[in-house]
Amino acid sequence: MQLRYAFRVYPDAGQRVALARAFGCARVVFNDAVRAREDARRAGLPFPTAAVLSRKLITEAKRTAERSWLGEVSSVVLQQSLRDAEAAYRNFFASLKGTRKGTRVGPPRFKSRKDNRQSIRFTVNARWSITDTGRLNLPKIGAVKVKWSRTLPTIPTSVTVIKDAAGRYFASFVVGTDAAADNARMPETDRTIGIDLGLTHFAVLSDGTKIDSPRFLRRAEKKLKKAQRELSRKQKGSKNRDKARLKVARDHAKVSDARREFHHQLSTKLISDNQGIAVEDLSVAGLARTRLAKSVHDAGWSSFISMLEYKAERYGRTLVTIGRFEPTSQTCSTCGNVDGPKPLHVREWTCTACGTVHDRDHNAAINIRRRHRPAERR
Ligand SMILES: [Zn+2]
Repeated sequence: MQLRYAFRVYPDAGQRVALARAFGCARVVFNDAVRAREDARRAGLPFPTAAVLSRKLITEAKRTAERSWLGEVSSVVLQQSLRDAEAAYRNFFASLKGTRKGTRVGPPRFKSRKDNRQSIRFTVNARWSITDTGRLNLPKIGAVKVKWSRTLPTIPTSVTVIKDAAGRYFASFVVGTDAAADNARMPETDRTIGIDLGLTHFAVLSDGTKIDSPRFLRRAEKKLKKAQRELSRKQKGSKNRDKARLKVARDHAKVSDARREFHHQLSTKLISDNQGIAVEDLSVAGLARTRLAKSVHDAGWSSFISMLEYKAERYGRTLVTIGRFEPTSQTCSTCGNVDGPKPLHVREWTCTACGTVHDRDHNAAINIRRRHRPAERR
């Protein structure tokens, strides 16, 4: 199984200039590829092949006056940018045909210097390396300082360097997992658990445990909201607004980092402790434009569920998701009576058939766990 491991990197001033140049060249090649396909479409010609684009937009372009600077960056970066354009078209056509899962994908757009996220990718044949002193050595950029927050399980096959809206740099490595080491780390267990993701608590488990997001995260979220309010009051085009915008971007980055860390720790613990995990699928698409949708988005439930998904796959666990609109919160977990809809503000209710008093979320979590089919033995 392939995973991504991302680390913060700290390029020095010269390396930042070289990276900006590489981001720019990758962007130009991407845009040239989009333009070439658009031109072909308008002229009613077949789309140029990847080989033709590579020759025209990289090899031959480097010899022209207006694109000669493409020679200043690693050609692998430019090749990968062409591949990204190809992949963007593939996704778009698959989406049109309905063969692609997930949300609809539009046609590739031109990239801009002002985009929030800039990135370049180096594959194995780009001759990048990790030095003895733990720096990331990139062709035509140099040995960049890395903050290694965890160890890579195996040797990575590619690395993407990213600059985000807050001006931070990251290296994202693609690595294969080591199945034997994973088995040793998380041996099989008999336990199963149901998880109800909620609004009053981040999650309630079928064993009664209630999990809230950590206090520092809630505090950071409050600070972010305040900064966002201040930004909206600043006059457009003013210097203060630019300052406020950078502050919001930084606060936002802090919140999403803290949230991701919380999700990582919780999902690893749940996967480690249990062989079978049942979680209420929030069917986020169905909630669009409701007040709940914002809460779902803010809590980052979908990114939490995708962590559970890939960790379940990695460690041989069974993950079952249950639709939001299945009556897990209306069914009595004691007698099975379907008691009727319970609006979100109803935190506690009494079953009209057997008289059991239920905590809303705990009752739902028990039902969710019941719906889980026992894990197959491997
Ligand atoms: Zn009952």
